[in-house]
Amino acid sequence: MKIGILSRNANLYSTRRLIEACEARGHEYKIIDALRCYMNINSTQPSIHLMGEDLVGFDAVIPRIGASVTFYGCAVLRQFEMLGIYTVNDSVAISRSRDKLRSLQLLSRKNIGMPITGFASKPGDIKDLLSMVGGTPVVIKLLEGTQGIGVVLAETRKAAESVIEAFMGLKANIMVQEYIKEAGGADIRCFVIGDKVIAAMKRQALPGEFRSNLHRGGSASLVRITPEERKTAVAAAKAMGLHVAGVDLLRSERGPLVMEVNSSPGLEGIETATGKDVASLVIEHIEKIVSSPRTRTRVKSQ
Ligand code: ADP
Ligand code: MG
Repeated sequence: MKIGILSRNANLYSTRRLIEACEARGHEYKIIDALRCYMNINSTQPSIHLMGEDLVGFDAVIPRIGASVTFYGCAVLRQFEMLGIYTVNDSVAISRSRDKLRSLQLLSRKNIGMPITGFASKPGDIKDLLSMVGGTPVVIKLLEGTQGIGVVLAETRKAAESVIEAFMGLKANIMVQEYIKEAGGADIRCFVIGDKVIAAMKRQALPGEFRSNLHRGGSASLVRITPEERKTAVAAAKAMGLHVAGVDLLRSERGPLVMEVNSSPGLEGIETATGKDVASLVIEHIEKIVSSPRTRTRVKSQ
C-alpha cells in the first residue's frame, strides 16, 4: 500500500513509529505537511499538491493533525476524502472531537457516562451555574485548553466565582464540571482502534496535583480495565465517529465517566506504558479496511 501520514514533523515520536510500522509491514509512505499542501477544488478533478508534486496514488491517509492546525488540516484531509482515499479518521469526526462542547453533547445523546457539566460564555447567574452542576468543588475548564493548561480546581464557591469571572473577562467559553474526587488524581487512557480497546494506561498526577496530564508531570502505567470501561471507551469513540481514538475516562463511584475523546492520540506514552506496538496495530487496521471494499464502504458511510 501507499500510505500518506499527515504530520508536520517526521521526527515526532508518533510519526516516527508509524513510519517504522509502514516499513516493517512493507508499505510505501509519505509524510505530508498539511499546511504546505495547496489544493485545486473543482467538480471534475480535485487535486492536492505539495512542493510541485501531485499527491496521487494513495490507498490511505493517517491524519495526525495538531490542535493548532485543525482548520486547514481538516480541509486537506477532506480533499483526500473527495479523491476517494480512505482516511483513518475522517475530517468531520476530527473537527467534531476538537470541540469539547459538541463532543460532550454527542456523548450525552448516546447515554455515555460523563461528569455533570455546565457550559457558559457570560453566565448572568454564576451561583445558579454552580448549583446546576452540584455545587463546589468544581473543575473549571477553558474550552480550548489542552495538556491541562486552563483546567482549574475551585474548592470553594468564592474561588469558583473568581475564576469564572476572570475567564469571563478574557471572553473565553468555559466548562464547569463536577469534580470527581474519588478518581484520586488519576485517569485512564484507552486507545481504541476500530471497535476494540487495544491498549490502556493509567495516568497518575503528582502528589498535590489533580491533573494527570503527562505534560503536568503525571506518570503512566499499565492498567487492567473493566469490561464496563472497555464498553464505554468503544461507545465513546463510535459516538464521535472515530476509528482510532484516545478515550480518557475517570473512575467514579457511578462507573466510568468520559472526559474527552482525542482524535490524534499520541503513541509515546501508551507504547512505553504498555509495551505494545500500537503503531503496527494502526497499520494492520488500515490493511484490513483497504483490502475489504465492503468494510471500507460501511466505515466511510457512518
Ligand atoms: P486537557 O484537555 O487540558 O487535558 P482535561 O479535561 O483532560 O483537559 O483535564 C486535565 C486533567 O484534569 C485530567 O486528565 C484529569 O486528571 C483532571 N480532571 C479533569 N476534569 C476532572 C474532573 N471533572 N474531576 C476530576 N479530575 C478532573
Ligand atoms: Mg486531557
